[in-house]
Amino acid sequence: MTAPKSHQIVIIGGGTAGTTVAASLLRKRPQLDVAVIEPSEVHYYQPAFTLVGGGTYSLSNTVKPQQATLPKQVTWIRQSATQIDPEQKQVHLLNDEIISYQYLVVATGIQLDWNKIDGLLETLGENGVCSNYSPQSVEYTWQCIDKFSGGKALFTQPPVPFKCAGAPQKIAYLAADQFHKRGLSKRTEINFYNAGGALFSVPDFIPYLEQTAARHDVNLNFNHNLIAVDGPNKKARFAVTDADGNSSEIEQDFDMLHVTPPQSAPEFIKQSRLVNEAGWVTVDQFTLQHTQFDDIFSLGDVSSLPTSKTAAAIRKQAPVLVQNLLSRLDGKPLDARYDGYTSCPVVTGYGKVMLAEFAYDAVVTPTLPLNPFKESRFYWFVKKYFLPPMYWHFMLKGFEADITHKPLKK
Ligand SMILES: Cc1cc2nc3c(=O)[nH]c(=O)nc-3n(C[C@H](O)[C@H](O)[C@H](O)COP(=O)(O)OP(=O)(O)OC[C@H]3O[C@@H](n4cnc5c(N)ncnc54)[C@H](O)[C@@H]3O)c2cc1C
Repeated sequence: MTAPKSHQIVIIGGGTAGTTVAASLLRKRPQLDVAVIEPSEVHYYQPAFTLVGGGTYSLSNTVKPQQATLPKQVTWIRQSATQIDPEQKQVHLLNDEIISYQYLVVATGIQLDWNKIDGLLETLGENGVCSNYSPQSVEYTWQCIDKFSGGKALFTQPPVPFKCAGAPQKIAYLAADQFHKRGLSKRTEINFYNAGGALFSVPDFIPYLEQTAARHDVNLNFNHNLIAVDGPNKKARFAVTDADGNSSEIEQDFDMLHVTPPQSAPEFIKQSRLVNEAGWVTVDQFTLQHTQFDDIFSLGDVSSLPTSKTAAAIRKQAPVLVQNLLSRLDGKPLDARYDGYTSCPVVTGYGKVMLAEFAYDAVVTPTLPLNPFKESRFYWFVKKYFLPPMYWHFMLKGFEADITHKPLKK
């Protein structure tokens, strides 16, 4: 075995979180030795997948070569990490190489557990079974919506946590809007099956989103968890829990089925010594430092941070992590604090977005002085035209200037 290569700061994962942290570190201290372990040759802007599935954004505009998004000064290790050894301060790679670190940032994102739903992988991308959650299946979502000529359209939401709390319902509203525009509403039944018991994680938004669902004639079914799909026969099976906690199963026919898959931490993370019982990397929710190993930090979807998993959350987490990591490097106290800010632009129809911004303890925290519960054309333009270039040219380049969000006065 060759001697381990060594880097001052090693980041596992070059997605939203890993790239933002790498760029910000190097912008602040260009002399740092930063390595990013990332097997993928491309970087996707996932928040636009909802618009791709809705036929109003091109998939090719959501992707760039990894080489172009990672900072030039970074050492890019084009491999998958397979194991983290926090005592030896080493990361093992798929090609059996070992990378030593002084400081480690874990940013591997979340794993899509397609195989937890029987029959799904066999039929995804055909038989009317689609999903915005993968670049391989997102264009098929639009084909399903575009070709729909009436019948039953089903949309599913898995048990929490999953990335972007609003994404499973956004595509239901876009589809409903599209069917209405094409005069199909009377011949169409739209059912939203939610494995959980509430439409959104922040109670203040729920009545407004329920109104949106009612306006679109989207029937809300709670405590219905998709467990199997029979594509050729167009049947979906759900595990149902009633108010008394009794379980049963039901089967539903469909003409189109949009699936949001169950999600969890990547396997090698679950098996590491860094995680809580649920498998997420255990960090202090304010400093983003690991609770046991103080030379390890984590952020983004793989972290245990008790907030909704979004790119918008990472925009606020990254500067905190970077400042605290640099303080640790300088032997100073970790002063920067993350308040749990996250945001979810809930697309409620073509040209309409309700921007849900909130922090820890479900506190609503708008950035602009606009009614956060009102669907807005302005926020549609922000989502479609402002946020993508902001992501590529500002956030991923390590710029941090920001407008402060404030708790909503009730
Ligand atoms: C349909 C959809 C809609 C969304 N809508 C929004 C939205 O409107 N607003 C919003 O803010 N967010 C939205 N999101 C969520 C947002 O995209 C994610 O929360 C964010 O990209 C997570 O960033 P991350 O860095 O944690 O993970 P990712 O960006 O997924 O990056 C993880 C990286 O780690 C790499 N990796 C994985 N395993 C390993 C390994 N073993 N070794 C090395 N590297 C590894 C992966 O290749 C990947 O590049 C949406 C997501 C989806 C799918």
